[in-house]
Amino acid sequence: MTTPTVGVFALQGDVREHLRVLESLGVHAVGVRRSSELDACDALVLPGGESTTMAKLARTFDLFEPIRRRIATGMPVLGTCAGMILLGDRIADGAPGQETFGGLDATVRRNAFGRQVDSFEGDLRFAGMADPVHAVFIRAPWVEDPGPSVEVLARVAEGPAAGRIVAVRQGSVLATSFHPEWGGDDRVHRLLVDQIRDSTQE
Ligand code: GLN
Repeated sequence: MTTPTVGVFALQGDVREHLRVLESLGVHAVGVRRSSELDACDALVLPGGESTTMAKLARTFDLFEPIRRRIATGMPVLGTCAGMILLGDRIADGAPGQETFGGLDATVRRNAFGRQVDSFEGDLRFAGMADPVHAVFIRAPWVEDPGPSVEVLARVAEGPAAGRIVAVRQGSVLATSFHPEWGGDDRVHRLLVDQIRDSTQE
């Protein structure tokens, strides 16, 4: 198989670390700012950032509909933090009129851990992984009311948010509340790359 190309939405957000992790996995990693760049991608990462700004910029740069369409037609996608919000079919506590690309049959609650809880870290048991994932949360969302085809991959282990859903998969859509691009652990990105291999073999 030729080297897959994985894009990182690059109009706003935390792009560089994702590119670095993807490159270390041997894929061709590119920033995506226009639809011609998206066309060349086999998969896409929607990074952390500010989900309202990211959606507005995607509209301004004519990327919104192309991304929505590619996700709807099965392109593997990983959304982290703000990226998870952008994948929600429904959002809670969104800005008025806030748009999402959709793809994940769930409600994603924005700033779910409370505005005063700016950031925290913790170890999570993650479905299919032998060792826990060290997760960094920054004004993070969580997932509520997942539909029947949504697989829960990780929940918060302890504290006031114990049991809250922070990683999910629905077909080729993967989303985490936390930032897997930080901390030297490439296992979540590997899931995305594996998804490309699976979807091109079918
Ligand atoms: N709270 C941000 C938003 O609503 C997400 C924060 C992040 O991506 N680190 O978009």
